[in-house]
Amino acid sequence: MTAKYAAPLADLRFALHDVLGVDELFKRLPGFEETTRDVVDAVLDEAAKFTEHVLAPLNQSGDAEGCHFDPATASVKTPAGFRAAYAQYVENGWAGLTSPAAFGGQAMPQTLGAAVKEMLDSANLSWGNYPLLSHGATEALLQHGEDWQREAFLKPIVEGRWTGTMCLTEPHCGTDLGLLKTKAEPAEDGSYRISGTKIFITAGEHDLTENIVHLVLARLPDAPAGVKGISLFVVPKFKVGRDGALGARNALACGAIEHKMGIRASATCTMNFDGADGYLVGQPNKGLAAMFTMMNTARLAVGLQGLSLTERAYQNSLAYARERLQMRALAGAKFPDKPADPLIVHPDIRRMLLTQKAFAEGGRLLALYAYTHEDIAKHSPDAAERERAEAIVSFLTPIVKALLTESANECTYHALQIFGGHGYIVEHGMEQFARDARITTLYEGTTQIQALDLLGRKVLQFQGVGLKHFLLEISAFCEKHAEDAALGEFIAPLAAATKAWSEITMEVAKRAATNPEEMGAAAYDYLFFSGYVALAYFWARAVATAQSSRPDIAEAKTQTARFYFARLLPRIGTHAGAIRAGASTLLDMPDASFG
Ligand SMILES: Cc1cc2nc3c(=O)[nH]c(=O)nc-3n(C[C@H](O)[C@H](O)[C@H](O)COP(=O)(O)OP(=O)(O)OC[C@H]3O[C@@H](n4cnc5c(N)ncnc54)[C@H](O)[C@@H]3O)c2cc1C
Repeated sequence: MTAKYAAPLADLRFALHDVLGVDELFKRLPGFEETTRDVVDAVLDEAAKFTEHVLAPLNQSGDAEGCHFDPATASVKTPAGFRAAYAQYVENGWAGLTSPAAFGGQAMPQTLGAAVKEMLDSANLSWGNYPLLSHGATEALLQHGEDWQREAFLKPIVEGRWTGTMCLTEPHCGTDLGLLKTKAEPAEDGSYRISGTKIFITAGEHDLTENIVHLVLARLPDAPAGVKGISLFVVPKFKVGRDGALGARNALACGAIEHKMGIRASATCTMNFDGADGYLVGQPNKGLAAMFTMMNTARLAVGLQGLSLTERAYQNSLAYARERLQMRALAGAKFPDKPADPLIVHPDIRRMLLTQKAFAEGGRLLALYAYTHEDIAKHSPDAAERERAEAIVSFLTPIVKALLTESANECTYHALQIFGGHGYIVEHGMEQFARDARITTLYEGTTQIQALDLLGRKVLQFQGVGLKHFLLEISAFCEKHAEDAALGEFIAPLAAATKAWSEITMEVAKRAATNPEEMGAAAYDYLFFSGYVALAYFWARAVATAQSSRPDIAEAKTQTARFYFARLLPRIGTHAGAIRAGASTLLDMPDASFG
């Protein structure tokens, strides 16, 4: 038995059309008027076919085979089938789905791109990593590149003929990019010579495209120390002239690929730059800000990776729980004609299934909601609406990234557990989901970094603008449904949790004002407190929508929301307790006493 995948089209449509109302939204956002309900559904259908039939069958074989590195040619060969799948992806126009029409893209909403991306990653997370960073590179060049850079680099990336990478990490620095050493020496013709070693570069080298465009952080000779002295450069594998002409091989090469716990078919490369030709993107010493354009895009995308694994693990563990016969239900046989009852009758199996369902469907709403705000922030004709949307998506990005990836680790663990010992056996594919999920809390900023970003920057430094908008939206929802008897069981606890969220934010802010360690000590629990309340809001919205307009799924949504409110939302109590325990419970322990 191998792991199956069926694109969750019904729930994606429920999320997009029914709950988030994208039909109306796209109609009023200039540029998206033609992305009608029919278009959205057609794109989802085609993505489902491609992911189910082309990518999903390569997931386990790709994991078993891994990538091949040839030191003699410094080349990387992807596993069997990956090249053909990529060619089909390009031929079908997926590479430019959300990219600007001016560069050959289809200019569709990011929200729709996110729905497609969830499917790509569920089907084959490793494969999905090859085109992943092209999207971020497109955004970075669009926002910060010079005209000729956009002309030369974007069209081939949008067409899928080239892919992008993000080269930040060095052996001695990952989180603390202020320590990076890669150098950029100015040349007479206005270009730069880039020298240094980058490690862990996703898709740094591969055989899917004719060229690879590296976006590299490096230091100019006179750069100040720390993060204020970092600049961004575009450095292609094959040189690219200002007229866009492809030239000779650049002075950079893959030195090795990593052997990893998961995503084994995704090439993770050491990249050596030996005086490679590169061009400055944006302003000197402002590279980190430019790279953040790419990182924010990638952070939301990694949140989707977590969601995608939760979804696929859930599908497989649900099918297994229905088929596998073990023991009898405690209150007596439910299937007396069978030798034993299926696993799904047992309460604890249902706990694990419902946990996955709650994170998958609630997480999908959270992620897609964030993407609708990305679309609003870029396309709304109303400046105030754009500003509000920008604040919300910026605030939610660390929550989407950390909550959906940490919960993917929990959910893939539950899915494996439902398979019992068979979950531990490679052929079923469940252990691969657990291994693949592990990276998602690490790359694109670890969970700790997301937590510091949320509390330190988004809430404390920027006075919680996004949080305030989001809290107001939840309060308005609670008020609107205050008299709705059918929703009563959710509205009161949601309103209480939202109030508690405001209060705990004030408490942390007050404590952090006198002792900055309080912020660091609270950040992780604050992020999860926030994430669970946000998910409660989306579960209440799902129920409200299903009860009013989708009687076919109202029972399923209501029961899952009941489970969420009764058994997952109370985790905020534990997080609040940890936050209130303060920094001293972590910092009073002398280093020497750790043992
Ligand atoms: C498979 C894979 C693919 C990757 N792809 C890319 C890529 O394409 N491009 C790229 O540039 N990088 C990539 N990375 C690198 C990745 O982003 C880094 O590994 C990550 O940012 C963490 O850096 P580090 O490994 O150096 O850990 P460190 O920075 O050494 O951190 C170690 C631990 O300390 C914690 N920590 C650090 N500072 C703090 C703090 N102030 N407070 C609390 N905790 C803290 C971290 O959360 C972490 O748990 C990839 C890594 C892997 C494994």
